[in-house]
Amino acid sequence: MQLYNTLSAEERAQLIDEAGKERLTLSFYAYAKIKDPKQFRDELFIAWNALDALGRIYVAHEGINAQMSVPADQFEAFRDTLEVYDFMKGIRLNVAVDQDDYSFLKLTIKVRHKIVADGLNDDSFDVTNKGIHLKAQEFNNLLEDPNTIVVDFRNHYESEVGHFEGAITPDVENFRESLPIINEQLQDFKEDKNLLMYCTGGIRCEKASAYFKHQGFKNVYQLEGGIIEYTRQIKEEGIESKFIGKNFVFDHRLGERITEDIISQCHQCGKPCDNHTNCSNDACHLLFIQCDECKEAMENCCSTECLDISHLPLAEQLELRKGVQVGNKVFRKGKSDALKFKNSGDLPDKPLAKVEAKNIRQKIAIKKVLVGKAEHYYTKSKIGQFLIENKELSIGDKVLISGPTTGEQELTITEIHVNGGPCETAKKGDQITFEIPFRVRLSDKLYKIIQPSENV
Ligand SMILES: [Zn+2]
Ligand SMILES: [Zn+2]
Repeated sequence: MQLYNTLSAEERAQLIDEAGKERLTLSFYAYAKIKDPKQFRDELFIAWNALDALGRIYVAHEGINAQMSVPADQFEAFRDTLEVYDFMKGIRLNVAVDQDDYSFLKLTIKVRHKIVADGLNDDSFDVTNKGIHLKAQEFNNLLEDPNTIVVDFRNHYESEVGHFEGAITPDVENFRESLPIINEQLQDFKEDKNLLMYCTGGIRCEKASAYFKHQGFKNVYQLEGGIIEYTRQIKEEGIESKFIGKNFVFDHRLGERITEDIISQCHQCGKPCDNHTNCSNDACHLLFIQCDECKEAMENCCSTECLDISHLPLAEQLELRKGVQVGNKVFRKGKSDALKFKNSGDLPDKPLAKVEAKNIRQKIAIKKVLVGKAEHYYTKSKIGQFLIENKELSIGDKVLISGPTTGEQELTITEIHVNGGPCETAKKGDQITFEIPFRVRLSDKLYKIIQPSENV
């Protein structure tokens, strides 16, 4: 009986590619009393592994919290695996707006002390005495009430790219920190104000609302199902969005666009931008916002220091990392002095820019044809090895390399080597190498970009 992953993320990505099946990204949670979390975890792993369900799931004595990717045609079967448990009968599954077949590449189910690290002593208050749950329209209505205080219970890097109009956005990097800060800040409003709270999927508010009621707040409300469910409802019912910008999510997409507004800036040049990225220097891995131009100029790095480090041979990088293991902790998530345009705490409601409408005609005009796949990347010499499986590839061709980790990268071929020697045109079956400024992964797809006038 298999209880753990046996495939690497890359092998998994390849399998998903080959299966060509549509997948759904979804999340759900439930607070419940679970006697034996380890047993529960193993049961879920067996049931979900059989359905090819992937994701990151936490189980604890207090319940379950899951972010997952499920094959679309297994959705009902997946739901059945939940209905087996009384406490998950009729559970709401938050299905993401943007779908991405590679949102998760492994099934990881962990037994934890708690499903959300809230730092609360649950025995000190009644966790079942929660706030009033609100649907999207009800939430909008209460937002209009001048007697309402709305609080974002997410972290600084989440609220920076999107939040509700007029929300208090605490400058915190985890949920645990935000509870005492908000309690302190709102001391004088316990009796007469409406405390309106929200988070990504609703789970943080489940506990926080009970905590604030225990602290003496009289009118506590929470957004049911969080921003994810709010978005679903406003789309379905045609309700105006009071949420502006992007909803940060914890899979590799890092965000779902809710409105066309961009409310944050590239942390390096200040231009309106709301795309998060992780610094390419693996020793840093800082989460920050970077525009396409800075991404290119800085090669995905957060600072010139990291850029220099990322250019060192891997062995030297590893050597450097040994010494700074402790030093790493000084990096606050999404904060560094090198980032001049990082905003947190008081955030603007005014959009800085709108997302540019995609040029649909241009998109249709550009065609691509699959010519092969990546087989290897020589990190030191920055050389990629590919196998040509279809058509041919010549010097001067524009190509697109695409894969779950690599993303979509374009470049023009300036040289090709076949069997160690240079050549003009590589043919089907050739194993070729060429210099490539970014890392490619096993099975990344190599496409030739065809201009409209050209024939394939
Ligand atoms: Zn920039
Ligand atoms: Zn960095």
